[in-house]
Amino acid sequence: MEDSKPSKNKKKCSFCGRSESEVTFLITGMNGYICDSCATQAYEIAQEAIGTKKPTASVEKLNFKELPKPLDIKMFLDQYVIGQDDAKRFLSVSVYNHYKRLLQKDNGDDVEIEKSNIIMVGSTGTGKTLLARTIAKMLHVPFTIVDATVLTEAGYVGEDIESILTRLLQVADYDVAEAERGIVFIDEIDKIARKGDNPSITRDVSGEGVQQGLLKLLEGSVVNVPPQGGRKHPDQKMIPVNTKNILFICGGAFDGIEKKIAQRLNTYVVGYNASQASAVIDKHNMMQYIAPQDLKSFGLIPEIIGRLPVLTYLNPLDRKALRAILTEPKNSIVKQYIKLFEMDHIQLTFQNEVYEYIVDKAVEYKLGARGLRSIVETIMMDVMFEIPSQGKTKYDVTLEYATQQLEKANISRLKTA
Ligand code: ADP
Repeated sequence: MEDSKPSKNKKKCSFCGRSESEVTFLITGMNGYICDSCATQAYEIAQEAIGTKKPTASVEKLNFKELPKPLDIKMFLDQYVIGQDDAKRFLSVSVYNHYKRLLQKDNGDDVEIEKSNIIMVGSTGTGKTLLARTIAKMLHVPFTIVDATVLTEAGYVGEDIESILTRLLQVADYDVAEAERGIVFIDEIDKIARKGDNPSITRDVSGEGVQQGLLKLLEGSVVNVPPQGGRKHPDQKMIPVNTKNILFICGGAFDGIEKKIAQRLNTYVVGYNASQASAVIDKHNMMQYIAPQDLKSFGLIPEIIGRLPVLTYLNPLDRKALRAILTEPKNSIVKQYIKLFEMDHIQLTFQNEVYEYIVDKAVEYKLGARGLRSIVETIMMDVMFEIPSQGKTKYDVTLEYATQQLEKANISRLKTA
């Protein structure tokens, strides 16, 4: 700025250095000048920085050609999530349709594609959150996970339903346009099931009340969101967010729903087609037959079910799946440890039997996929403590070592993990 201090003879822009004659006009400041084109640029930079500018990366920039096809989405998911083929196909198609819907142009034919929010049913730790998170990663859209259990009907202890969108705004750096095309994963949706069939004297503020509150969010409306979340209070400035293009993916374990499915199928098979229908039912995995009416029997209100038109399920993870989860996903637990060791210039290897042993223990103690990490962590803790100071370049984890470490740590304590 120094050489461009205002002087009567030689006025020039303090930013680009062009003289008065080379620009349309110069604005005079205390210690310098700015030309019209630098001022315009500065304005744009400032707008971008404070987030009021409609981001060009937004929906307008999503173009149909670049939109990943369902098969591409599924292939991407395959890199991170083991198995769950049905869920992956359902998700890929609904996400594809969702973004097609965002791109639809109103050509006056009155055909409006409706929102396809998703509900995934499956035991805890089978990959529901992982699927939703991976999809969001692929699409580069804001993504947030909220837990339905903390929500209560407005006016009661707990969080207002609108706070779901606060989190989305936060991950989108308060860029409303960006948040409005994001994905929200509502976990434990089964916990807001109606608490009983009889309307009781006490209001069901965390069950049916929350379901009612969720309706407007799911279907798409302008919601006033408290920027800091929690409870709304009268003096707070609200940010209006339109949920029309926000994709909601709900997940829940729906413990015991298999019974309801079985009941429904049973009444079905008593009918005229009995022998044929019962022949194809795989009793070990009832979840695959889930239908909207089962969610209703479980306690979701029909209006909510109607707003979650895509219903899919996740399979329980068997030995084979657990074994694959350990090593195959792009960021599998084992790959993460190998990377950690690489940073210390140590080549880490595992004997094959170690993997089998880890899976055995996860199955034995019913720890599921989440438990795999705690088991590996327990086995590796001592090595990770000692080896970086030993100057070794290789380390091989043997079955003997793994067994000894787990026994020493008394694996049963992991059970509550
Ligand atoms: P859920 O949401 O169904 O309770 P998560 O998706 O949070 O379960 O899974 C917990 C962890 O277990 C994940 O972070 C991941 O490491 C692992 N995991 C679970 N299922 C799978 C799967 N199908 N493929 C790969 N990893 C999985």
